[in-house]
Amino acid sequence: MSSNVAETLIRLGAEFHRRGWVLGTSGNFSAVSSRDPLRLFITASSMDKGRLTAEHFLEVEQDGRAVNGASGKPSAETLLHIAVVRATGAASVLHTHSVWSTVLSDVHADEGGFYIEGYEMLKGLEGVKTHEHREWVPILENTQDMKALAVDASGLLRKRPEVHGILIRQHGLYTWGKTLDEAARHVEILEFLFESFGRRKMMEPEPRAMRRK
Ligand SMILES: [Zn+2]
Repeated sequence: MSSNVAETLIRLGAEFHRRGWVLGTSGNFSAVSSRDPLRLFITASSMDKGRLTAEHFLEVEQDGRAVNGASGKPSAETLLHIAVVRATGAASVLHTHSVWSTVLSDVHADEGGFYIEGYEMLKGLEGVKTHEHREWVPILENTQDMKALAVDASGLLRKRPEVHGILIRQHGLYTWGKTLDEAARHVEILEFLFESFGRRKMMEPEPRAMRRK
């Protein structure tokens, strides 16, 4: 792994941990190391993201196994990272477990997701030019069967290629970017939007449409 990529992922781990988005060894980060054959650098299983070092990453093949039988166990969610990279062409996938992503993915699971619209911060999402944008945030059911979850994510991204992130119910966020910086920005922007959306709902639970009637 290039020292640049390692340094950035280590820094993101510390920042995200400080923000409460990857507590207690939760979450995982990956960066594409090769397109053909597809290979990823990914955080090893059960590492504290606030205290990562370059030894806490390993390179995996597209089937999720460590390259050359390297030591260390890849994150259990490796297959989901690979599915997202395949579907979106991303260079990096970042997975976090924040309070707001956990709560909102639970509250809106029955609708399969929710829309966020009107917020200026939406413009931090790649390709979004105006606050009038309507962002669909899809929610997939959580499971410990990572193969099934990877299939679900692939299907979802085929149907909704415009989304910038996926929530897993009562679990957390997957987002990605064409660069590592873009993926990191998407975590920050989506977490900001989730908190704004969630707090607003708490203050004014009645939907706008009903209020106008
Ligand atoms: Zn997770």
